[in-house]
Amino acid sequence: MAVGIVINRLVLVVAYFAGAAVVSSWLDDVPPEIASKLDSGSNATARFATDYGGVTRAANPAAVFHPSTADDIAALLRFAYCAESPFPVAARGNGHSVRGQALAPGGVAIDMAALGGGRRRINVSSAGMYVDAGGEQLWIDVLEAALRQGLSPQSWTDYLYLTVGGTLSNAGISGQAFRHGPQISNVYELDVVTGKGEMITCSSESDRDLFYGVLGGLGQLGVITRARIALRPAPARVRWLRLFYTDLGDLTRDQEFLISLPETTGFDYVEGQVLLSHQRVGNSTFYSKQDVDSINRLKGELNIIYFLEGALYYDSPSIADQKIEDLLKQLNFVPGFVFSNDVTYLEFLNRVHNEIQKLNSRDDDDSSSTAPLHPWLNLFLPKSGVRDFEAGILQNINLTGLILLYPLNKNRWNDIMTATVPNEEVFYTVGFLWTATVEDWGTFDALNNEILGFCDQHGIEVKQYLPHYTSKLDWARHFGSDKWEKFAQLKRRYDPKALLSPGQQIFN
Ligand SMILES: Cc1cc2nc3c(=O)[nH]c(=O)nc-3n(C[C@H](O)[C@H](O)[C@H](O)COP(=O)(O)OP(=O)(O)OC[C@H]3O[C@@H](n4cnc5c(N)ncnc54)[C@H](O)[C@@H]3O)c2cc1C
Repeated sequence: MAVGIVINRLVLVVAYFAGAAVVSSWLDDVPPEIASKLDSGSNATARFATDYGGVTRAANPAAVFHPSTADDIAALLRFAYCAESPFPVAARGNGHSVRGQALAPGGVAIDMAALGGGRRRINVSSAGMYVDAGGEQLWIDVLEAALRQGLSPQSWTDYLYLTVGGTLSNAGISGQAFRHGPQISNVYELDVVTGKGEMITCSSESDRDLFYGVLGGLGQLGVITRARIALRPAPARVRWLRLFYTDLGDLTRDQEFLISLPETTGFDYVEGQVLLSHQRVGNSTFYSKQDVDSINRLKGELNIIYFLEGALYYDSPSIADQKIEDLLKQLNFVPGFVFSNDVTYLEFLNRVHNEIQKLNSRDDDDSSSTAPLHPWLNLFLPKSGVRDFEAGILQNINLTGLILLYPLNKNRWNDIMTATVPNEEVFYTVGFLWTATVEDWGTFDALNNEILGFCDQHGIEVKQYLPHYTSKLDWARHFGSDKWEKFAQLKRRYDPKALLSPGQQIFN
């Protein structure tokens, strides 16, 4: 198994280098208005040769493009499209992919952060209840701008230092998606630059094929330069709870109950995590020292325990108290094992960043630490497969890492969009968010492959989220024949020379 993985990785890197040799000659023919925004220095290009995952190290792009406006991106793409040897182009949001999806070996990486010259391109309309945000904008900045007007988008990711264009190219999910759908279900309109360099404003009413194709479209049809996102009034504060379970059946029953409730009586956010064997709760911003001791006593010799994470947004403390009391009475967590925090809405949504800051401040004392690798695997697991998945996978993992497990409602997803989910009304997000080193990441990757193999063998029809495949056959299987055919048609129409986001390895 391990040898196979090393070979696969070499094949990937070699393929990327081969591509680089073919395309680099175009650099000499670039017109001055584009050339002035290109940087082909090795300091610039090396930064764009890897990503947050750190496991894919492709060839550098031939150049990094620093656009000031969407017109600059259109000019670059028109040039790439008409060039004698068309070259690949990838929008790079915040580079938080984990499998090289935003890389452009031998081509051009668009440094999206340069758009607007660093100016925040975020306009909130309180009359229209929407925000227009540049594709390069970070969600934390969108949130802060909306909050200044007492408003907020309703669907989030757990971590907010991701770009609008990057998450809308995938789906954008967190504990609010069971009710409001993924972020792609909360978009009114997009400005897109296609692979031919056309600039198109699209919505459910105008150029709808492009609109729905780009949402979850893995950067294949165009570069998102603006998104109009739905807003609603922001709550002031959040009651944030963690309830512990020793039985998966109890956890999932409660999670599924909670995601079936209407807004008036239920939580506003529902997630969950798995604590594997050998894993203990460590210090975090969430627990007191006493909480940590008591949870670790519960864990004792148990192989696995779980917690459900819920959050209730509120403006009136007494109404929140009553709602939580009513909800807790209906849940089946281990008696006494409920822990809560009361935080501002911003603190809640920015919780992962705050936690990372805290960890990093500890790591600062450790001069030996190097950047960790993140060979993550994210799956959408149909509800019918959860039991087998637990018995076959979760009970047998002897590695340690962060594992998310929470259900979503399929009726909050729009199947016209490119994003693909399992064909059951309720499906689970399972995120294996491993942290590894250069020496041991292959062990995690081997486990990921075993997990996928197990699902295959047992007929559990998982879909990868933030998918990573390297063959057309696997991509076709991922999308299913109808969706694949439609996606390929859209690709032929909007990016016929397959220039965009080559790191996804779909059409190139
Ligand atoms: C710490 C961390 C936490 C995360 N938490 C969540 C989470 O809770 N929920 C969730 O859904 N995801 C989560 N993700 C995954 C994240 O949503 C994706 O990795 C996303 O692609 C990262 O956004 P980015 O802006 O860094 O995009 P990049 O990695 O830069 O790009 C991703 C892909 O989108 C393309 N792209 C980028 N910008 C544009 C654009 N403007 N137009 C068209 N295509 C574009 C790129 O070419 C590439 O193919 C997390 C990732 C990390 C590292």
